[in-house]
Amino acid sequence: MGPPGAGKGSQSTKIVKKYNMPSISTGQMFRDAYNNNDPIGIEAMKFIKNGNLVSDEITNGIVRTRLLRDDAETSFLLDGYPRTVAQAIALDGMLDDMHTSLDAVINILSSHDVLFERMEQRRVCKTCDATYHLRFKKPQEDGVCDLDGGELYQRLDDTHESVMRRLEIYESKTKPLLDYYSNKGILYNVNGMQSFDKVYDDIILVLEDIK
Ligand code: AMP
Ligand code: ZN
Repeated sequence: MGPPGAGKGSQSTKIVKKYNMPSISTGQMFRDAYNNNDPIGIEAMKFIKNGNLVSDEITNGIVRTRLLRDDAETSFLLDGYPRTVAQAIALDGMLDDMHTSLDAVINILSSHDVLFERMEQRRVCKTCDATYHLRFKKPQEDGVCDLDGGELYQRLDDTHESVMRRLEIYESKTKPLLDYYSNKGILYNVNGMQSFDKVYDDIILVLEDIK
């Protein structure tokens, strides 16, 4: 968990490599569906591009389907889900059905200034979803992914207006979830205003500790 731009996506990508588990990112699933002209993706993008949340019904539906796939049987990491209390309750139901529960909820803390800066300068590879930052993590060649030469683009929801709306929604709809998981005793806070590697190390310390 953490506000938009806190680094959830990049940290998830690295964590799942270490533990060999799938990363289930609702935002990424919506973007993939949109790029594939899937009706759900086109519907979802109407909300996403303005910085609003996609409905709980659609979001819970794609997560439920995704959790049933074989690769999620032993372990998985959720990135960007749940984002509302209603989603958290629905997720508990899905996990009950699977006879499992969450081991940890990692919350990446960050200030709004840092988040604005990160999101407006963020660029993403069309092919592999790797993320770059125009100042702090520049691609070697402008507009081109270092990893596979894919074209870099700015997410439709990384505009100033959209970022403002996403932060507002985070405060009103998602932040209450911190209490929900804190009450369950599984919330771990990590300082997100450090280098990417330091944040990663702090997350791994938590995960190793609860194993
Ligand atoms: P993300 O890639 O996590 O920043 O998500 C991008 C956008 O997808 C969000 O701003 C929402 O519009 C939508 N989205 C992603 N996850 C959810 C969710 N759990 N519930 C509702 N909307 C979501
Ligand atoms: Zn790439």
